[in-house]
Amino acid sequence: MTAVRAVVAVDGPSGSGKSSVSRGVARALGLRYLDTGAMYRAITWAVLRDGVDPADPAAVGATAERVELSFSTDPDESQISVDGLDVSRAVREEAVTSAVSAVAAVPGARSVLVERQRRAVREAQAEGKGIVVEGRDIGSVVLPDADLKVWLVADPAVRAARRAAEDAAAGRLSHVHGPGDIASVAEDLARRDQADASRAASPTTQADDAVVVDATHLGLAEVIDAVVALVRDRVGA
Ligand code: C5P
Repeated sequence: MTAVRAVVAVDGPSGSGKSSVSRGVARALGLRYLDTGAMYRAITWAVLRDGVDPADPAAVGATAERVELSFSTDPDESQISVDGLDVSRAVREEAVTSAVSAVAAVPGARSVLVERQRRAVREAQAEGKGIVVEGRDIGSVVLPDADLKVWLVADPAVRAARRAAEDAAAGRLSHVHGPGDIASVAEDLARRDQADASRAASPTTQADDAVVVDATHLGLAEVIDAVVALVRDRVGA
């Protein structure tokens, strides 16, 4: 395996497979991996823990500044902590998923996290490594100079079916109509996409120079291979 030092941005709507694809690409190329959605979820977890109103921008911004986030950028270990407490599982719960778009719309929370994300990239580079960063605004705002920007999409029905299967496999029984209920998962994805794409602060955006990868008819391994080939091509590895 040749290690490459590429900085790769992977953006797209909820449930398009960004996490699995990004992790797989990072493993294949010996890169670090940063899940920025987990960071917004962790701040949301802290907002809920502290009884802060997710609709109160000043209080949400203050929470983002106050809490201490730490996380792994190892693609084989998805771990994130708030004030020293491991919240890796807790941030996937329904309460956090329902509130995260409101928290992510607060400019004060975004500026704290964007700075933290850029720092994680600098830290990887200081270790001589590249990194795959996944989110909604990575190519457009956080890392406009990324070596490769991928805009990962899939049809809504396919995204909902895959996310329902993931939820069931992870034992998340939280969807209102029960586990594996594809219709309620589809509603949840659509609600978050609408909120994330229509907010004023850094909405979900396809960067002008992003390469569109449509995962509707491809398996995970095929998408990973396609993105790995794009990275190699871009950095000449
Ligand atoms: O990727 P994931 O679904 O875990 O992201 C959770 C939420 O975090 C998104 O619905 C969005 O509101 C927010 N987010 C964001 N910008 C990013 C990554 C995630 O606003 N770069």
